[in-house]
Amino acid sequence: MLRFAQTCDAVAATTKKTEKIRLVSSLLQSLPIEDATRAAIFLAGRPFPRWDERVLGMGGRLLARLIGELSAKSGEAMSGVYRKHGDLGDMAEELLAERSGAPGVSLGEVASVFGELASARGQSEKSKLLRGLLERARPAEVKYIVKIMTGDLRIGLRESLVEEAVAKAYERPIASVRRANMLLGDIGETLQCAFRNELETVRFRLFHPIDFMLATPVETAAEIFKNAAEPMVVEEKYDGIRAQAHKSGTRVKIFSRTLDEVVEFPELREPLAALCGEYIVDGEILAWHEAQPLPFTQLQKRLGRRNPDLWLIEEIPVKFVLFDLLYQDGELLLDELLVERRRRLKRLLAQSKKLQVAPERMCRTREALEEAFRAALAAGHEGIVAKAPDSLYTPGRRGRFWFKLKEPFATLDVVVTAVEYGHGKRHGVLSDYTFAVRQGDRLLNIGKAYSGLTDAEIREFTDYFLKHTMEDQGFRRIVEPKIVLEVAFNNMQRSNRHESGFALRFPRILRIRQDKTPEQIDTLERVRELYARQITLPRLASGARAGDSGMGE
Ligand code: AMP
Repeated sequence: MLRFAQTCDAVAATTKKTEKIRLVSSLLQSLPIEDATRAAIFLAGRPFPRWDERVLGMGGRLLARLIGELSAKSGEAMSGVYRKHGDLGDMAEELLAERSGAPGVSLGEVASVFGELASARGQSEKSKLLRGLLERARPAEVKYIVKIMTGDLRIGLRESLVEEAVAKAYERPIASVRRANMLLGDIGETLQCAFRNELETVRFRLFHPIDFMLATPVETAAEIFKNAAEPMVVEEKYDGIRAQAHKSGTRVKIFSRTLDEVVEFPELREPLAALCGEYIVDGEILAWHEAQPLPFTQLQKRLGRRNPDLWLIEEIPVKFVLFDLLYQDGELLLDELLVERRRRLKRLLAQSKKLQVAPERMCRTREALEEAFRAALAAGHEGIVAKAPDSLYTPGRRGRFWFKLKEPFATLDVVVTAVEYGHGKRHGVLSDYTFAVRQGDRLLNIGKAYSGLTDAEIREFTDYFLKHTMEDQGFRRIVEPKIVLEVAFNNMQRSNRHESGFALRFPRILRIRQDKTPEQIDTLERVRELYARQITLPRLASGARAGDSGMGE
């Protein structure tokens, strides 16, 4: 494990891609194959292979508490060190630096404790297991154990670079390594196939999820035609949960975008099982009532409930709208054209009464796209997704073949009331802003935004907020409510998290409103209005104009 940690440090210290690949490939070459397999998985920032659904079930708070106990440092000292690094692993290394004499641990021991953690029940058993491992590990090893557990090594190494290192270490073509990794969902097993020269024999396995193809965001319809060859297949952009269903015989499994199993919608199993043959379909699960989509906030009520009662299933019915077919009866279709995949999907679903193929329009001009966009908004959707008809399915990529166009639901002018230090790249700067709306003389917090400002603006704001702090709470500062921001968001929900009683979904900072004073910001009254509009939105008659529907301000 020490050599693994030293290699990671060296990878972090260089910005050169080729050097990172060289370092990782010589580490892999130097290790016995079982250890190289474990190292490859850990280097991808995961305790387990990508297809593996096990989770460690230990959050940041528990990890921080354990590190605190091991280092015997005060909470204040810990928060100072955390603030400096913005990363729990780096914090652990610094806090434990004085601890000498730990014998060190092997990659095998780390892997087996991860396995035990996943099957352990209850936080105290998990803490005991991890404590045992961390007590034996050297500070640099603890650092990377913690980083793997939090899911990000922060050393500038993406999984695609690990693939390149595997190709280099065993002198295999990078395309073969990438394809095997995509099919297996396991960089460790891919490494073993590369080692044994068996990459070409790798076959796709049903019930191992494939990464999802993603869409590139655009601001206007015109941009879509600038980027792609005409015409485009245009679908509604659904605000639900992206899902991939695998079926063979009577067995059905649904996976989410994080490649975890989705178990909350038992009513989808029967219609999926009823379709002929073996297949994988890709689509979106959305809440749906009386021929209208319901806001995501409704669907959310069904999440986290394994066995929903009948009442809930009827109260918030869902629909699985399908837009792609990735595999059918022994044939992987990723390299087929979209039009062909859709043709086969329609045939597969022809007999189904409960499952539906996403309706499509062929758009040849910008005007046609804009019309489709307005119609999608009026029907209660988030916007549109435009897809090149001759595109292949490229898992995990945001290519130039799928584009998404959506409008923010609304914007609010708010004032910043508290600021926090950021994580990772943004540690040491005040980059997370809590903001409020007004009710009379009172300011009521409604959300927190992390994105939308440039690095230069954040640096400038950090200086400003340090000078205008009213109360320093360590990692958080209550600041004078002077800075007015315009924030966009996708929708809002009732929530106890903030004192306004509402929370915003996907808030992002659009601009700094230097032209507005804190007295002129939006009120709780307007928030209530927007919330009410959102609730009635899906009931709008189709064909209503976008402007009437409350979408986009
Ligand atoms: P966003 O959530 O804004 O990043 O949008 C990307 C997501 O839109 C995808 O991951 C899908 O879950 C979702 N999506 C909704 N409708 C479609 C569609 N018709 N085709 C592809 N993706 C879609």
